[in-house]
Amino acid sequence: GREWHLVARPQGWPTPADFALVEAPVTAPAPGRILVRNEYLSVDPYMRGRMNDAKSYAPPYALGEAMHGGAVGRVVASAAEGFEPGDAVLHGLGWREYADVPADQAFKVDAGAAPLQAYLGVLGMPGLTAYAGLLRVGRFQEGDAVFVSGAAGAVGSVVGQVAKLRGASLVVGSAGSDEKVRKLVEEYGFDAAFNYKNGDVVGQLAKAAPEGIDVYFDNVGGEHLEAAIGALHVHGRAVLCGAIAQYNDTTPPAAPRNLATVIGKRLTLQGMLVGDHYDLQREFVTEVGGWLRDGRLRFEETVVDGFDNAVDAFLGLLRGANTGKMLVHVG
Ligand code: NDP
Repeated sequence: GREWHLVARPQGWPTPADFALVEAPVTAPAPGRILVRNEYLSVDPYMRGRMNDAKSYAPPYALGEAMHGGAVGRVVASAAEGFEPGDAVLHGLGWREYADVPADQAFKVDAGAAPLQAYLGVLGMPGLTAYAGLLRVGRFQEGDAVFVSGAAGAVGSVVGQVAKLRGASLVVGSAGSDEKVRKLVEEYGFDAAFNYKNGDVVGQLAKAAPEGIDVYFDNVGGEHLEAAIGALHVHGRAVLCGAIAQYNDTTPPAAPRNLATVIGKRLTLQGMLVGDHYDLQREFVTEVGGWLRDGRLRFEETVVDGFDNAVDAFLGLLRGANTGKMLVHVG
């Protein structure tokens, strides 16, 4: 089987030369392990951070080794109790065609309840991030006005829809293309949306939410966060989930310049990591899974075909080539 290695640490934007496709032996699993043929790989923004040799909440990828990431696939051989060939599993050894996974780090998923790859997106880590971030970290209340950036992505599209389904008075999203903006309003039920590439965020947000907002779900950072701080009401909350606008920056951004207004407005700006919120998993799957089945919550995937194209998928994600969850179909 083949696997993708990181071979150089990107400076600024990653390039294909930072990665290499390497052939690796596929061996029978040792006791307590399973061999999985991956079907879908996840590419996620956090992976960019793991390519740097910097201390962070997740350790850096080692140079010359296979990268890690979410994946779903089928067990092809098992030396672990409770796993049989054919079982569908979710695990963390993506970026490879075959994964030799410790059984205690593999989770069986119900391929009948949802398409396998949904466990990497709407019913998986990004979905839980949206759910826990909005409801728990953001302390969303019925009647709140919500603004979410990165709104057409895996996390953002769920944030906006959960807010709406839970009774938000207003849901505004921003995204990087007119087509994404159209979808947010026409298909995802957002009250308003704007393309941040078409003009300043402050002005476009003021037009979309003239009365201001109660909760800001930040996937982007920088100018978006600054604009949201300006629009938040007294006692408003900002969920700092991601800052993708700066992941490839080599110098820190200037914004937000209005941090001092946090004082007078008694705002809460809270960082979050999804890993702290797996106790909400069951509640999340029940509520969001129910909305999916009823057709009240939509989700989209952008699937890049072929293991060879996994790096292109990752680079595309950073550029906004995806709507909804970006996935690689191993084929
Ligand atoms: P998305 O599906 O949202 O994909 C990333 C999107 O970011 C792109 O589609 C692109 O859309 C947008 N983007 C890229 N560059 C910029 C930019 N300069 N300014 C504004 N938007 C940009 O990814 P996810 O849903 O998986 O992740 C969304 C965010 O949530 C990321 O910041 C990620 O790091 C974070 N995250 C945090 C977690 C946590 O535990 N804290 C867990 C999971 C995700 P567009 O066309 O709109 O520009």
